Amino acid sequence: MGRKTYLKKAQPSLMYGDTRAFCKNSETGMDDLAHQTAAKKFLQTCLDWQLSIRELVADAQNCHLCPRMSGSRRVLTDLNGPWQARVMFVAEAPGRLGAERTGIPLFGDRTGDRFEELLHAMQWYRCDVFITNAILCNPLDINGNNGSPTGAEISNCSSLLRRTIELVNPLVVVSLGRVSLKALALVYEHNLELRASVGRLVPWYGRWLGVLYHPGPRTAVHRPWRKQLQDAQTIARISEPILSIAGPSLHRVLYD
Ligand code: SF4
Repeated sequence: MGRKTYLKKAQPSLMYGDTRAFCKNSETGMDDLAHQTAAKKFLQTCLDWQLSIRELVADAQNCHLCPRMSGSRRVLTDLNGPWQARVMFVAEAPGRLGAERTGIPLFGDRTGDRFEELLHAMQWYRCDVFITNAILCNPLDINGNNGSPTGAEISNCSSLLRRTIELVNPLVVVSLGRVSLKALALVYEHNLELRASVGRLVPWYGRWLGVLYHPGPRTAVHRPWRKQLQDAQTIARISEPILSIAGPSLHRVLYD
């Protein structure tokens, strides 16, 4: 099966907006005033969306809710991926040698390498997907190693995660690991449990939620890497009809 990219094929870029309705109206002979009004509304929608993204990024960069993250990078910028992506991955937290260093989620460390393998198995490209974490800062333990986010930290970061999901408005969210599932349940309730739900895609929050283990090397203890790659391929396969939907982007639901 050849590699494919969904973004260019099926996703109208909100940067330029979903121009189809606008163009259709032009063809059917809208009068000048109506045309200008539609154009203005369309432009305003794009500007509002971009402004909301800048506000979200600024709020994240200025967030000091979690005391142990005072010196950490807030990993939410344009390096997370295209804001109009149809697929979003949600992992656990930026890694000390990964996103904390590079500013790019799931990139630069062994977990990042394994995530690339996962994407390759799915025949998806990094440039087509948006990647974020349950919490946006690297939680170090007392020895200076990667720690686990606490319940309070996940809860603190929940509104930033919800706003990110709402602005990207992906068709499919893929949860990577138990912490991500927990964080997503705070955004919108679900009763998924990692072990029982891995490889499944279920309706959630007006879109679909896929369940995978976190690609970090330590999770191989719970799920062999070969199985994790198969799970990822299953998610990609069952997502395919959803991602191939022609027609208006779900962004319109938000911005119409
Ligand atoms: S983890 Fe999230 S809530 Fe906590 S300080 Fe970082 S950005 Fe703020």
